[in-house]
Amino acid sequence: MKIYNTLSKRKEEFIPLEEGKVKMYVCGPTVYNLIHIGNARPMIVFDTVRRYFEYRGYDVNFVSNFTDVDDKIIKKAIEEGTTAAEVSKRYIAECRKDMEAMNIRPATKNPLATEEICGMVDMIRTLIDKGYAYEKNGTVYYRTRKFKDYGKLSHKNLDDLQSGGRALLVTGEDEKEEPLDFVLWKPKKEGEPAWESPWSEGRPGWHIECSEMSKKYLGEQIDIHAGGEDLIFPHHENEIAQSEAANGKEFARYWMHNGFLNIDNRKMSKSLGNFFTVREISEKYDLQVLRFFMLSAHYRSPLNFSADLMDAAKNGLERILTAAKNLRFLAGNAKEGELTEEEKVILDSADKYVRGFETAMDDDFNTADAIAAVFELVKYINTTADGSRSKECLDGLNERLFTLTDVLGIIIDKGEEILDEEIEAMIEKRQAARKEKNFALADQIRDELLSKGIILEDTREGVKWKKA
Ligand code: AMP
Ligand code: ZN
Repeated sequence: MKIYNTLSKRKEEFIPLEEGKVKMYVCGPTVYNLIHIGNARPMIVFDTVRRYFEYRGYDVNFVSNFTDVDDKIIKKAIEEGTTAAEVSKRYIAECRKDMEAMNIRPATKNPLATEEICGMVDMIRTLIDKGYAYEKNGTVYYRTRKFKDYGKLSHKNLDDLQSGGRALLVTGEDEKEEPLDFVLWKPKKEGEPAWESPWSEGRPGWHIECSEMSKKYLGEQIDIHAGGEDLIFPHHENEIAQSEAANGKEFARYWMHNGFLNIDNRKMSKSLGNFFTVREISEKYDLQVLRFFMLSAHYRSPLNFSADLMDAAKNGLERILTAAKNLRFLAGNAKEGELTEEEKVILDSADKYVRGFETAMDDDFNTADAIAAVFELVKYINTTADGSRSKECLDGLNERLFTLTDVLGIIIDKGEEILDEEIEAMIEKRQAARKEKNFALADQIRDELLSKGIILEDTREGVKWKKA
């Protein structure tokens, strides 16, 4: 598998730190509003990356934070006459709803910045002890010049940055040793949430949050760190400076960044006001369409949002769903029996499209080409599947289509009535997977059932299920 690494600016073979495992951290949203579909792009893209790793047999530890303390959250709380904690709690809940509706698999862990302050204070203390940080009147700054590799991710030269650096001096920060030094800890202002620290009662800077949460839940070294390309500088550059200086080792092996979702060729953003929330889009389209639209482009390319492109995505998705429905109908009426020689050839041919899909995904998660392979499979299914085929053959075709669309997070049998026997069979399969400690498969089965509206409950008497 090849991944484009922002660090080296080229595609590199993926070699995990630990065989069969992927440790992955994705910077999550700042929660002060409903998320917009630009924020949804990294969610959908990196969920698909995770799903593909799992398809390839990797055990993925996927951590993604919520930034729940920030100027924007505090501002919103003041406007509403409530607390920052109330605002962030509300929008985390809303964000989780949107993520579920976009069929984003739950992360292994979603740490909240406000619950990890202790660890951040420890990390800042280490940085001060090692000479990488200094305190001035209750504020702690990172001493950027001390970190020799500063600029290695964004490929920026420190001196160039420095010459344009006057602009980086924010009012009240003129006590910094150098303009490029950034804040690790800041003292509280009246009415702001604050925590105790050796330097002042205050709160952490944004960058230190991710360095600490990544370390706590994934370890000092991780395989992949990801986010939108606007995070390369300064956020990820600063995370590297903090983590590598504090831990004394390389932080992340691969840095992945998605391109922007644009509208009229400008980045969709809250500050420009040119955004649609996921919630708004869900009123017009099934969110599967949004997911399919996002994956129709390579994740590193800019993607322009338009009603025409959404309609094209809707039509494309419809073709896949119709083929799947047709297959299920035919299989429901088909005769059971051994595969004929001709049918074995048919399934082998279908496998060629599966290989095509894998080749595309192995090449830096080229979902655009992977979707093209799915369309080829659909075309092949439409020309070969008919009432003369055996149930085994039709099920075989359906299984291949299901597997590929599942990697993309597209559910092809949404809204279909699931039979009790099918549920029982899947529960049995899940129990067997758990016995073999194949928890990824067990989770996948649970999620698949959930997507069909079936909720599992592990009780003392065994597994029980109910309809949502
Ligand atoms: P924020 O809440 O602004 O910190 O953003 C959360 C995530 O969404 C980050 O990974 C951003 O890079 C990403 N993001 C924000 N706007 C866009 C956009 N228009 N296109 C793609 N990614 C975006
Ligand atoms: Zn981050």
